[in-house]
Amino acid sequence: MDSVMDIPHDQLGRTICDLRISVTDRCNFRCTYCMPQEVFNADYRFMARAELLSFEEIARVVSLFAGLGVRKVRLTGGEPLIRHHLEVLIAKIAGLGAACASATTPVATATPGITDISLTTNGALLTAAKARALKDAGLRRLTVSLDALDNEVFSRLNGVAFPVDRVLQGIDNARAAGFAPVKINMVVRKGVNDAQVLPMARHFRNSGCILRFIEYMDVGHSNAWKMDDVAPTAQLINTIHREFPIEPADPNYKGEVARRWRYQDGAGEIGFISSVTQPFCGDCTRIRMSADGRLYTCLFATEGHDLRRLLRERHSDEYLTNWLRDLWQAREDRYSETRSERTVALEKVEMSYIGG
Ligand code: SF4
Repeated sequence: MDSVMDIPHDQLGRTICDLRISVTDRCNFRCTYCMPQEVFNADYRFMARAELLSFEEIARVVSLFAGLGVRKVRLTGGEPLIRHHLEVLIAKIAGLGAACASATTPVATATPGITDISLTTNGALLTAAKARALKDAGLRRLTVSLDALDNEVFSRLNGVAFPVDRVLQGIDNARAAGFAPVKINMVVRKGVNDAQVLPMARHFRNSGCILRFIEYMDVGHSNAWKMDDVAPTAQLINTIHREFPIEPADPNYKGEVARRWRYQDGAGEIGFISSVTQPFCGDCTRIRMSADGRLYTCLFATEGHDLRRLLRERHSDEYLTNWLRDLWQAREDRYSETRSERTVALEKVEMSYIGG
């Protein structure tokens, strides 16, 4: 039996370290692999404000999870910067960490605390002022999604004809605000933007940014995913290596999602997130929460667990902590290792609802 300070383990012996929080189900893009226009159109009902967890509720949830071993929080959406005053939430979460633990203080002795807060954005709302405000509030890391450099290709993929140079400006704003390295996420879909892999690599070499190539995944149940549309990581590695020799680099930590590689000529680092062809469920320490407070123990889950109801029923911290621990200890997810025609067809939760 795990005591309060013991870190719970799930059925596969995995601890809980990363909490990914969606702060809104809304987005200003309609990326075809995540929020296709046909589904997320004018008739789509997005959540009303009262349905969303408040910043106070989110901060309480973070504090409860910190007591169970969570050290890293990633804010996602939809598009998280659509949620107003996000800096207030970031400062609340940062306050939790600063008061308790430092990177060198072992968990077992210090009051548990959050040591890393990051955010994934499409960059459209990442003005210079916003980037600075996020940094000043305590945000540690920023990841910007960009799927092509060619405007025509990018417009087709983001579904709203948003121009590339405005996302590039967002990336520059993030770097000017002191975020380093800024990570760039590119979802690669065969026959759609795979020809953009080399132009993206050329652009971000020697930039200090870390470009990561993400295999197109069967997330949710709206993107009509097919295995034929996946550009396997092994192929991308060969494509890049032919022009810019690369070599594997050691992981930064156990459970890191991206496999690290670097240019042999010192031009920087790239990464590959290969959930389809090289699954990494064995070390998965992630749990996700939707903006209305439902918990999902896997990105490809079909059902969630309603924490918001318990929060609003005013249960004690101890009650909620025990409920969270039971939820994690019962976890046995390893979807990507068991993906099949049957599982691909399941009514899985939408990525725009729980974040990537
Ligand atoms: S498929 Fe699920 S269990 Fe596997 S790595 Fe992704 S989130 Fe974790």
